[in-house]
Amino acid sequence: MRWILLGPPGSGKGTQAKRLAAAHSANHLSTGDILRAEVAKGSEVGAEAKQFMERGELVPDNVIIRMIRSRLQEGNGNGQFILDGFPRNRLQAEELDKMLTEIKVPIDRVVLVKVSDDEVKKRLAGRAVAEGRADDTADVIAHRLDVYREQTEPVVAYYREKGRLVEVEGEQSIDQVYSDLEKLVTA
Ligand code: ADP
Repeated sequence: MRWILLGPPGSGKGTQAKRLAAAHSANHLSTGDILRAEVAKGSEVGAEAKQFMERGELVPDNVIIRMIRSRLQEGNGNGQFILDGFPRNRLQAEELDKMLTEIKVPIDRVVLVKVSDDEVKKRLAGRAVAEGRADDTADVIAHRLDVYREQTEPVVAYYREKGRLVEVEGEQSIDQVYSDLEKLVTA
């Protein structure tokens, strides 16, 4: 499986990606998780990314693209992967297309986990309490949603225009969303 999972913050795509990757021995490439690990390590990338993440801004494209490129080339997970959190703007989507053409690896699914704005706000406020993530304060949440609308929705449109987008309903139980996603693995 070589998938891109798209969806707003709080759509649950991270949870689903983790589960799908485990079930199919694929590499779960979550740019958010990778960045948080870099911040925790205190690496150079982490130090640069931290200021953007805390504000709910996108980390500069060159940082992210380098990060993804090296991981796609590592070839973990038998060449199977689920991209979660990338691409997040149009330029990243175009760069990804180039990379995949270069390494001759086609994507087989681009899936949008659909969740309404109201539901997203509710969920993120809940997660802030549960996990204490630095970017889950009310202001930063609102900003991340704006960034999603302005920069990431065009990525959804990009794949939709190419006829490559499939949607699943994200406002269902975690198990139900997972079962809808599993159906797409074999469909
Ligand atoms: P969310 O739940 O908001 O989607 P993520 O864990 O995917 O959170 O990402 C957290 C933060 O990491 C983002 O707000 C952003 O600052 C940074 N980030 C993650 N992926 C990317 C990316 N592809 N491009 C730029 N910044 C990114």
